[in-house]
Amino acid sequence: MVMHTKTIAELSAGLRAGDFSCVELTKHYLNRIHNSDLNAFISVTDDLALRQARAADDKIAKGEGGILVGIPYAHKDIFCSTGVKTSAASKMLDNFISPYDATVSHKLNQANLVMLGKTNMDEFAMGSTTESSYYGKTHNPWDRKKIPGGSSGGSAVAVAAGLSAFATGTDTGGSIRQPASLCGITGLKPTYGRVSRYGMIAYASSLDQAGPMTKTAQDAAIVLNVMAGFDKKDSTSATQAVPDYTKNLNNSIQGLTIGLPKEFFSTDLDSGVASKIMAAIKEFEALGVSVKEISLPNSTYAIPTYYIIAPCECSSNLSRMDGVRFGYRCDNPKDLQDLYLRSRTEGFGEEVKRRIMIGTFALSAGYYDAYYLKAQKIRHSISDDFKTAFGKVDIIIGPVSPTTAWDLGSIKDPVTMYLSDIYTLSANLAGLPSMSIPAGFSQNLPVGLQLIGNYWSEERLLNTAHKFQMQTDFHQKTPQRSEAMA
Ligand code: GLN
Repeated sequence: MVMHTKTIAELSAGLRAGDFSCVELTKHYLNRIHNSDLNAFISVTDDLALRQARAADDKIAKGEGGILVGIPYAHKDIFCSTGVKTSAASKMLDNFISPYDATVSHKLNQANLVMLGKTNMDEFAMGSTTESSYYGKTHNPWDRKKIPGGSSGGSAVAVAAGLSAFATGTDTGGSIRQPASLCGITGLKPTYGRVSRYGMIAYASSLDQAGPMTKTAQDAAIVLNVMAGFDKKDSTSATQAVPDYTKNLNNSIQGLTIGLPKEFFSTDLDSGVASKIMAAIKEFEALGVSVKEISLPNSTYAIPTYYIIAPCECSSNLSRMDGVRFGYRCDNPKDLQDLYLRSRTEGFGEEVKRRIMIGTFALSAGYYDAYYLKAQKIRHSISDDFKTAFGKVDIIIGPVSPTTAWDLGSIKDPVTMYLSDIYTLSANLAGLPSMSIPAGFSQNLPVGLQLIGNYWSEERLLNTAHKFQMQTDFHQKTPQRSEAMA
């Protein structure tokens, strides 16, 4: 078995057994990254990675550290990393070298992991395809002509193409789950507040949540163990105790009740995707799970609700990019007004400017009640629907994306793009944990299955996903072209 097809658990065992050193493993991945033509990375941090690999080899030789020591990973370019460019894929931050670590970066460093580089994404995580990056588009390894999904497209591709053992992602409206689904990997968006947002460049603060993007549910549990936990630097992080997410992965799921929201199986769902979701449900039934139809009536309003709240919050968060304190500054400003105006006009891309304008408009005195306040009320109703549903079922299941990966450049109209987020947004609006796991292929492109759990039910989600993966082999499939590489 080649190193890049191994899971974290297998790599860790290989490192401990001396089958390969961490330096060898790191060089293997760096070599694959440099030979790849998928544009998954914005920065590759060779020197740092090799330094961290040597330190990890020392730890391993002394028998110190946990299961993640020496595991090479790809970090979404939205997490601040000391001394490394942190761009959020924007021209605005192209010159920004972070002077500090995000809490997630810090925790991964403390656990002696190896950072291979920073991954490509939609600019400031606004998008569903990774096409809005200042650094060019990323290609889907299953078919180069297709989008990898977004906004964490580079991270999903890094894992799917064997360019890193796992990756980090962030999910405001689906950005972990949707690219995981379209690239055939496992992605987990935890409960809002489970993982610290400190040092994660903010998009929409009441929705943003970081999580692992991995080959398997077991790997996601291993990584979440390190990422999760209270952080006094993030006032919205939860004090809830962090269990060992790997402990109950093998528990039986017999007797569990799964809910199928009828709104998630409407006519907009591609029939190839629908048939894989139905087949997955059969697998769960074989595992002793019972299935019930439920309704999430307000989920049909998720798109307009999200596309008011997220732009409102982003218009406020992005006001700090003013050309004065850090980031891009225009040449020869005439005066302060000109400096603000031109720095922001030249530094931000089209989609980011569109959202700043929508948010500023919706928050303005005359329109606040009609848009922002209304959206907050519907957000509440969406949460209430879930509350009712979780009175009847343990887990909710459905598709992640209405279709498989589409052609690069094929969706030009922003509203059509927003519509593709229909199944992922509700979990963010309610703050619930949710996963995407591989559920097969439609016309040779991966299909992802979405699992949504009640608050703080990551253990149950991971257990359910793990049992499914023990029963199926979709998560072990790799794109052929990545196998042909180095
Ligand atoms: N596609 C959604 C958006 O563009 C979600 C992005 C995300 O989760 N960061 O806002």
